[in-house]
Amino acid sequence: MPSGRLPSLGSLRIMARDERSVTPQSEDFSAWYNEVVFRADLVERGPVRGSMVIKPYGYRIWELLQADLDGRIKATGHQNAYFPLLIPQSYMEREAEHVEGFAPELFTVTHAGGKELEEPLVIRPTSETIIGEMMAKWVSSHRDLPLLLNQWSNVLRWEMRPRMFLRTSEFLWQEGHTAHATEADALAETMLALSLYRDVSVEIAAMATVPGEKTPGERFAGAQRTFTIEAMMRDGRALQSGTSHFMGTNFAGAFGITYTSENGTADLCHTTSWGMSTRMVGGLIMTHGDDKGLVLPPRLAPYQVVIVPIGRSEQAEATSSAATELAAALQRAGIRSHVDDRPQLSPGFKFNDWEMRGVPIRLELGPRDLAAGTALMSRRLSYPQPDAGKVAIPLDSAPELLAAELAAFQAMLTQRAADFRDEHTVVVNDWPDFVAAVAVGWALALQCGEQACEDEIKAETTATARCIPLAGEPEQGICIRCGSPSAYGKRVIFGRAY
Ligand SMILES: [Zn+2]
Repeated sequence: MPSGRLPSLGSLRIMARDERSVTPQSEDFSAWYNEVVFRADLVERGPVRGSMVIKPYGYRIWELLQADLDGRIKATGHQNAYFPLLIPQSYMEREAEHVEGFAPELFTVTHAGGKELEEPLVIRPTSETIIGEMMAKWVSSHRDLPLLLNQWSNVLRWEMRPRMFLRTSEFLWQEGHTAHATEADALAETMLALSLYRDVSVEIAAMATVPGEKTPGERFAGAQRTFTIEAMMRDGRALQSGTSHFMGTNFAGAFGITYTSENGTADLCHTTSWGMSTRMVGGLIMTHGDDKGLVLPPRLAPYQVVIVPIGRSEQAEATSSAATELAAALQRAGIRSHVDDRPQLSPGFKFNDWEMRGVPIRLELGPRDLAAGTALMSRRLSYPQPDAGKVAIPLDSAPELLAAELAAFQAMLTQRAADFRDEHTVVVNDWPDFVAAVAVGWALALQCGEQACEDEIKAETTATARCIPLAGEPEQGICIRCGSPSAYGKRVIFGRAY
C-alpha cells in the first residue's frame, strides 16, 4: 500500500455519516434518494457521466433478486445463453421502428486497434437484432419451436439525466428472447414473462406493482404490444419495473426467422422479448425507505439480522463470542446474519448505521442479556401499529423465532406498499380531480386513446399513461381530457413517472 495517502474511504464514509441524518422524504424526496444510495453504501459514481459503480452491499441485493428470477426463468423452460456486446450497425437498421426508437441512445464504436472500422459497431442497447440473426440460423422446422432463450448482461443507453439505479447509461439486466410458431403461443409467452415479473416484484421485492398493457405511444420500439408492471414509489410516482413485448412477426420478417410448418409451408415466427434490470434496486429503495434510510425486504437483504455485542473489556469478549455463536446458529437455519464487532464504534453509531442500511432485524447482546440467556430484538419498521420497541428473545429458540419474525416483516412490507398504492390511487371522472390525483399518486381515468390528447395531458400535468391494468373492469365513457369517446374499453392508470 503506498504511504502518505489520504484516509481510507471507509473512514471518510464514517465521518460523513456522523454529520447528520438524511433529508426527510417529505421535504425533498429526490434529495432523500440521492443521499440514501450513497449513505447506505450501495453505489459510487463512476468516472464517466451516467456510469455507476455498484458496491458489494448494493450488488448483493441485485444478486439475490437475480438468483430468484433466474430460478423462475429456468423453471418455465428457458435456457440462458450469451450474445456479443458489439452489434454491426447494419443489424440495428433492419427493423425501422427499432432503430428510430434507439438511435438517440446508441453508443457506437468507430475505431478498433487504432484504425477506423469499415462498418461501425453498436454497443448493445438491447439484443433483439443480434439474437434475431442467430434465431434465423437455429430455427428451420416447427420442431425447433418454441425457442426459449434468456441472457444476463449489461447494456448501454446514453442517458442525459442520470440517477443511480434508475437511469444510468450502463445497467445490468436479463433479456428474454423467444420464437414461436403461432401468434397465440407468442402472446401466451409474453404474458408468462409478465407474470414472472409480477411475482418477483410482489413476493420477493414486496413492491406494489400493477400488471397492465402500455398504450400505443409507450410501446417498445418495434413491438406490436408492450406489457409492464408499474410500481408506486413513496412519493406517489410510478416506476416501470419490468416489461414484456409481443413483437408479432416484425423481427422475424427483418431477420428471416422462418420455419417449415407441419404441412410444408415456410412461415414467419412470432417473437417476444422481456427484461428486468438493476432499476429494481432503485424501486426497492423508493418503495420501502423512510427518513432513517433504507428498509430492505428480508428476501433481498444482504444481512437479515445484525447482532451488535455490547460491553467493555472482558465482558466484550464474552458477548462477542456469544454473538458469533448466535450468528452461526442463525446461518445454519438459513438466516443471513452478521456480527458488528467494530471495536472503534459506539453501539449507538452502529444502530444508526444498520438502520440506514435497511437491515430488517437488529439484536443487541449485552452482559445482562447474556446472563439471562436472551437478546434484545429491534425491528427496522413496524406497520400499521407503531413500533413496540425492543423485545427480549431467548437465545436458544432464536433461529425459529427470527425466521418467523423475518417472514412477518416481509409480509408487513408487502402490505404497507399495497396499502400506500391503494390509498394513492383514485378513480377520477373530471379534469380537476385528475390534476389533483396525479399530483400525489395515480389517477384511474377513461381516455380517448389519441396521442395528441395524451401529449396534452403530459404537457399540463407531467403525468403519462402508465398502463391499462389487466385486472380493470370493462368500462366505456368519455375522455377525461377532451370529452371524446373513451378507448381501450377500460380505465387507464395515469401518473408521474421515473
Ligand atoms: Zn382525449
